[in-house]
Amino acid sequence: MPRIQCLPGHVADLIAAGEVVERPASVVKELLENAMDAGATAIVVELERGGLTYLRITDNGCGIAPDELPTAFLRHATSKLRTAEDLAAIGTLGFRGEALAAISAVSRVDIFSRQKGADAGAMLHLEGGVPGEVTEAGCPEGTTICVRDLFYNTPARMKFMKKDSAEAAAVGGIVQHLALSHPDISFKLIRDGAEVLHTPGDGKLLSAIYAAMGRDFAMGLLPIDGSGGEVRVQGFVTKPLNGHGTRGRQVFFVNGRFVKSQLLQAALEEAYRNRLLKGKFPGCVVHITLPADMVDVNVHPAKTVVKFVSDKAVFDAFYYTVRDALDGENKPEALAPRQESFYQSMTVQEYREKAAAPVETKKPLGSYTARPAVPSVSAKPAVPAVHDVAEKGKPFTATVPARDGCEVTYHITPPSVQEKKVVQAAVELPVEPVQQKLEEKAAPWRMVGEVLRTYIVCEDEEENLWLIDKHAAHERIRFDALKADPQPLMAQTLLAPLTVTLAPEESAAVLENLDMLRRFGFACEDFGDGTVLVREVPSDIRTGDAASTLEELAQKLLLGRIDPEGVRDELFHTMACKSAIKAGMVTDKAELAALVEKVQSGEIKYCPHGRPVAVKLTKYEIEKMFKRA
Ligand code: ADP
Ligand code: MG
Repeated sequence: MPRIQCLPGHVADLIAAGEVVERPASVVKELLENAMDAGATAIVVELERGGLTYLRITDNGCGIAPDELPTAFLRHATSKLRTAEDLAAIGTLGFRGEALAAISAVSRVDIFSRQKGADAGAMLHLEGGVPGEVTEAGCPEGTTICVRDLFYNTPARMKFMKKDSAEAAAVGGIVQHLALSHPDISFKLIRDGAEVLHTPGDGKLLSAIYAAMGRDFAMGLLPIDGSGGEVRVQGFVTKPLNGHGTRGRQVFFVNGRFVKSQLLQAALEEAYRNRLLKGKFPGCVVHITLPADMVDVNVHPAKTVVKFVSDKAVFDAFYYTVRDALDGENKPEALAPRQESFYQSMTVQEYREKAAAPVETKKPLGSYTARPAVPSVSAKPAVPAVHDVAEKGKPFTATVPARDGCEVTYHITPPSVQEKKVVQAAVELPVEPVQQKLEEKAAPWRMVGEVLRTYIVCEDEEENLWLIDKHAAHERIRFDALKADPQPLMAQTLLAPLTVTLAPEESAAVLENLDMLRRFGFACEDFGDGTVLVREVPSDIRTGDAASTLEELAQKLLLGRIDPEGVRDELFHTMACKSAIKAGMVTDKAELAALVEKVQSGEIKYCPHGRPVAVKLTKYEIEKMFKRA
């Protein structure tokens, strides 16, 4: 055994450096955190060759005094903690006072810094951690750190580096995540001379998303904001029609820190169940905020794993917030706020004051000229008469006893159609003053007709044209109904049992799940050799469709061996699809009208496969097509 020796300082530094500085992205992360700690509001990151040959970070933060420049690069030098108690307070942040020492130990560093309000700045060059002289330098307020030839003196580490493009992508990821967690700071990333990201720093998360993740992604988002207990959930999620091919656009922050979390991913995807096309994934940028003691503090700060004290609390808060947002989306009234006619938004009290302003009073006889005929509520007994006469369309005068013993005379001009509505509202007013909002049901859409035996054409009050896919709409209604009702489906016994020949594994799946199939209205028996005898079929599917339905169910049951959770919904899909009215078939007008009502109410938006049930064309869009707008 050789003798025990203390390591020379620079060797110890190199070992420590290895723990902090793994790759260019980790350098960028440390330097960006320093810039943010320094109160910067604008930060620029430039890199060449994935950051291995050249990395420069410029901030407009508080700057460093010239005489403190060398100190900043000493190991364990920090302005951020003084005592062991401080360490406990920021214990989760890990290595402190290490970053600059570690980075400079494995590269060539130039630092330029000028404190806010100082006349001049200073610069310092370090080579493998060894500082030169501090010299005066002309530079803007803030700090610029330039890191060249990373790992030039640690070839072993150099070998671990991936292609430049991979290192640059990792840097891009760090900048993107910090930009999304700090929308109030402007981040700019320049790679090999080209600007690849630039956030405005206007404090709006959506602006940061737009700049960091692209226009298309940002335009396809829905805001979410909710909470469950002490867990707050805010941010944006993909609209169901804008699903993505991968999970790459799911970005989660917990208490401001970027994390990867299967729990959050599961809560998100669960909220989208039956709303997305198959093979599509939701994207999101979500900030979860919760008290520090609800997150496990023993998780390494540099890692992106997170552990919650209560998984359920976090799951539920996130899941329900997303669900609520998705449920609220695309309701017609949410798309186009209805113009409020005055009586819809007023309390009874306000309504009375405005509508029944007296112009002339006589004691003991009161005389009011009311136009339209909306006297005070106390005159309710007169209203039927008003109504009668108004129907005839002639002006008239009516004198009726009021509750205080006076008489009230009304001079009434027949109401226009619009005014008639007001009369109607007056009729419905309660006699006692009640502070309650009058709600009027949205006027029904006008169903224009059906085209291509598939699409129902409607017009709404705000001059929008709607096309409803009758099959998709009905399928959704069936699906929701099937899921909500735990009773087995009604079955009809066939006069002559049906024989259905299936692939061997399919018939095995059927025979393993006879009870489940009963729930769906199928009574089956083994008929040998892969053939299944069907005695009963669900009464709401056509007999001609029974065999193909069973075949489809069998295929889904097979898949269910892999994913037993998902299979129930898949079975519901099949049943809903097969029992729904079909495109191309003649459908009763009353049935179409019922579908329109469901779509109008906002109850259904997507078919169970995630396709839209209705599309809207605004008047403006139509006018644009005709070059009128
Ligand atoms: P730590 O950030 O843990 O304190 P660092 O090695 O990253 O350790 O930085 C050492 C010190 O250098 C910081 O405490 C801070 O005072 C100063 N510093 C580093 N970067 C900047 C910067 N961009 N602007 C102002 N001060 C900085
Ligand atoms: Mg630091």
